[in-house]
Amino acid sequence: MSAGTFVLPGPLPGGRASGAKHASIADDTRVVEEVVRRVRSHLASPAASTLFTIQASVSARHIHVTRAALDATYGAGYELTPVKDLSQPAQYASKETLTVVGPRMRCIADVRILGPCRGYTQVELAPTDGRILGLAALPIRESGHLDGALPVTLVGPVGSATVSAAIRPTRHIHMSPDEARSRGMTANERVTLRVGGEAGVIFTNVLIRVHDRYRLDLHLDTDDANAAGLVGGEWVDVLRG
Ligand SMILES: [Zn+2]
Repeated sequence: MSAGTFVLPGPLPGGRASGAKHASIADDTRVVEEVVRRVRSHLASPAASTLFTIQASVSARHIHVTRAALDATYGAGYELTPVKDLSQPAQYASKETLTVVGPRMRCIADVRILGPCRGYTQVELAPTDGRILGLAALPIRESGHLDGALPVTLVGPVGSATVSAAIRPTRHIHMSPDEARSRGMTANERVTLRVGGEAGVIFTNVLIRVHDRYRLDLHLDTDDANAAGLVGGEWVDVLRG
């Protein structure tokens, strides 16, 4: 059975084969009502095809920098100041921020740098951030895959760097190899998320990222989180993609 299809259990009212002639309108109405009732109850069932549950984390706009980009914006040899550990081991939010400038001089100030320095500079934005900067069509990319990333200028206290680095990150779940194995997940597969509640949303194309330096965490950008009414810490269902 493929995703999105299911079997309606049991016979339908009237006990007639589909296509039988001379059925009354009342019979047809009862059949339709019963199908609707069963579809609704299937969709409402929290257990339906849930693989596991996970707590959501909201990933606000942020920047990863190379050594060269940090040199250009904060000065040669400048070292980031860690202020908060992140969920992924050895990753931290730094005290340092940059102003991101888009086309036509539109900018967002105080965008946090996450350390340590990486081999690439990457500016991770939600679509709303992109609109503010005049970057209407942010490409959705996995971290480190920057083909087609949009150019922005990063301005720090001592200088600036212009880099093709702006992306919307692919929705993703980090997990260690053990965490993947115990959940029957494989690296790079895509799953679906179901967020319940009044603002419930189904999110597709959630990438499973597996690495021995990762720890279980779901990362949604601020637009996705806002759409689903999530502030972080809520449990959501992971379904087969
Ligand atoms: Zn992440």
